Amino acid sequence: MAGELISVEEAQRRALAPVRALGGERVPVAAALGRVLAEDVVAPHDVPPHDNSAMDGYALRTADGVDGAALRVIGEVAAGQVATRALAAGEAYRIMTGAPIPPGADAVIMQEHCERAGDVVTLRRAVKLRDHVRAAGEDVRAGETVLRRGVTLRAAELGTLASARRAQVAVTRRPVVAILSTGDELRDADQPLDAGAIADTNSYALAALVREAGGEPRVSPIVRDDKAALAAAIEDARRADLIVSTGGVSVGEHDHVKAVLAELGAELTAWRVDMKPGKPVALAVLDGTPYYGLPGNPVSSMVAFLLFVRPAIRAALGCDAPLDLPRATVRLETALTVRGERRQFLRARLRFVDGRLVATPMARQGSGVLTSMLGANGLLVVDAGAHQFDAGADATALVVGALA
Ligand code: AMP
Ligand code: MG
Repeated sequence: MAGELISVEEAQRRALAPVRALGGERVPVAAALGRVLAEDVVAPHDVPPHDNSAMDGYALRTADGVDGAALRVIGEVAAGQVATRALAAGEAYRIMTGAPIPPGADAVIMQEHCERAGDVVTLRRAVKLRDHVRAAGEDVRAGETVLRRGVTLRAAELGTLASARRAQVAVTRRPVVAILSTGDELRDADQPLDAGAIADTNSYALAALVREAGGEPRVSPIVRDDKAALAAAIEDARRADLIVSTGGVSVGEHDHVKAVLAELGAELTAWRVDMKPGKPVALAVLDGTPYYGLPGNPVSSMVAFLLFVRPAIRAALGCDAPLDLPRATVRLETALTVRGERRQFLRARLRFVDGRLVATPMARQGSGVLTSMLGANGLLVVDAGAHQFDAGADATALVVGALA
């Protein structure tokens, strides 16, 4: 019954509510790619630290910079060197890109705009004050906060840390995420598939999603559909920062997750969400540890992970925007008929065509069809009810993977 379902947004709010940002640890900047900053970083000095030349040419005094002037070249400064003496009237320094502007000089003329003969350079243009001079502090001022806590460290951030002279940086600890696959039918890759058995795929797919989100997966051995076995596995998982289980969360006789959580004293904060795939999602808090009981169907578990667990991992990492799945208007490549009592998240492949994002819905959308996730970098969001989209119509998609 629709009335019993809570909205995805409400479930996301409840999924995030018990999550606290973890403490920091220091790591070398070179090893910090993808981590989340746990401190504000302040520039210790101006960047660049000195006025310097943006061109190969001649440093001079603007007062001498008239078209046709002949100046005496008294030396050369390359990047990494400093001028040996100050420039006097009628003098110029040969200067290279990145070299500090010599004292007394206040402009640079490009070598293409001069003629050099022996130690005399003749200007072929007039020069204006600070022509081709990159000012000290033009990029960053000493004392300026260049990076704030909560930012994810990518290439430009690592470069900026180096420019702030940091060899090490404080980042949040990666949350340890316990993964419990439950089901009597499940077998690991090295176990034979006896009658009635299937491969455990969730342990592998969810461990990868945990890593992609910035967490540290800890995959437990497959858990049998038995209350005592499940209780023992959950007890063991309590040392983790977050616990994720798949399967056993529905209403079958062998679905024990909710009952066992209740026996362990957990507070159930949500169950049954207005979404397809993935309606049976049990959110709970066990002694302060957030617990995410995802459905067993491989596609459902991945979609529910992206909507509820990924944001929780980002929040544990201290990210500023944990619910950061980008939402885009996309053009449907094929017609689409959708009918249902719940909001649907249809797997689709998104790509740019002539500068617009185009979505190709996967042909098969069954929640057990794991191959429908192959190459799926988008989820088309379609509200409950009957909808007929023509090919070329606009739809809304969540971007869940890289856009090629
Ligand atoms: P459940 O949520 O336990 O009712 O499982 C729903 C469906 O997902 C059943 O067909 C299960 O066999 C399947 N399933 C459950 N867990 C896994 C898993 N770890 N890997 C692959 N399929 C699973
Ligand atoms: Mg099961």
